[in-house]
Amino acid sequence: MTEALASTPTPQGGAANLAIDIHTHYVPHGWPDLATSDEMTARGEWPWLRVETEHDAMIMLGTNEFRRIESDCWDAERRLADMDADGIDVQVVSPTPVFFSYGWDPIEADKVCRIFNDLALEICAPAPKRLLPFAQVPLQDTDAACREVERCKVNGHLGVEIGNHVGDRDLDDAGIIAFLQHCASIDMPVFVHPWDLPNSPRLDRWMAQWLTGMPAETHLSILALILGGGFDQLPADLRICFAHGGGSFAFWLGRVENAWHRRPDTIATSEHPPSHYLDRFSVDSAVFTEPALRLLIDTLGANRVMLGSDYPYPLGERPSGALIRSASGLDDSVRTALLGGNARVFLGPAAVDRLRQ
Ligand SMILES: [Zn+2]
Repeated sequence: MTEALASTPTPQGGAANLAIDIHTHYVPHGWPDLATSDEMTARGEWPWLRVETEHDAMIMLGTNEFRRIESDCWDAERRLADMDADGIDVQVVSPTPVFFSYGWDPIEADKVCRIFNDLALEICAPAPKRLLPFAQVPLQDTDAACREVERCKVNGHLGVEIGNHVGDRDLDDAGIIAFLQHCASIDMPVFVHPWDLPNSPRLDRWMAQWLTGMPAETHLSILALILGGGFDQLPADLRICFAHGGGSFAFWLGRVENAWHRRPDTIATSEHPPSHYLDRFSVDSAVFTEPALRLLIDTLGANRVMLGSDYPYPLGERPSGALIRSASGLDDSVRTALLGGNARVFLGPAAVDRLRQ
């Protein structure tokens, strides 16, 4: 790989104006056989990769095909070429949620996390200033999750991606709150991604799980932190971001606010009304239309929205950042903040130091 491709390009306006995509995913090109335990073999859902060609592979869960992917999932050179084509300087490179393994025995899940986290470092190694790895953790076991996020921080991960729930435990679950408190204490930003979506025959067509399930799940997770009292227990310096514009939340904040005041017997379970907590989290910009982007900015503030594309998956935005770049009515300072300024604050000092080097 050429040095020019791997080093940080200098955008117009200098390093402070980098375009940072905070929502992208990776899949390693291969990993050791995970179906080593009786439990994994019995459940028949262990993740593995059926490599079809040098550029194509199929994510397999046991004997079931889950998703066809291409080499942009693991090939740094291809990612960097796409980033250059799209005008993206830096990607946050997060796990693909199907590998979270929250349903596994914690010891097996811990093993999966360590393998994938170490492989993520290898994928990002060719361009350490442009590809910033985020870790995954065995969130079903709070102590193991805290240990793994600490190990990853030492090894060079710059944050952690978590799923929006662990089985029936939402983000206000005591163990998950303890993990989030730990992330705040060691200065690791958290990216929350919907996964393990509701299932029924009604959702089994038109990718309805992705089109309706993901926005609803993310909305529910934000409500868990608000109405479930999560934010009341978390330090204000926790940096946490929700994927896909925070799902349905911004559109329905008024309904939730009204409910908090009108049905205090069941809904006013947080110390303050929902609108009080809008400065406690961020969202990405993967909402595709100008009115939706404007709603996020109007509802959460221009400092709470960050470029996020969902690269390289097909429901993501390409070119990455196109909506922010083309949206009318954004002044230059807001556009710059959405393209990368807000991400620098979210990522924090460790990442900013690395980008500066
Ligand atoms: Zn995603």
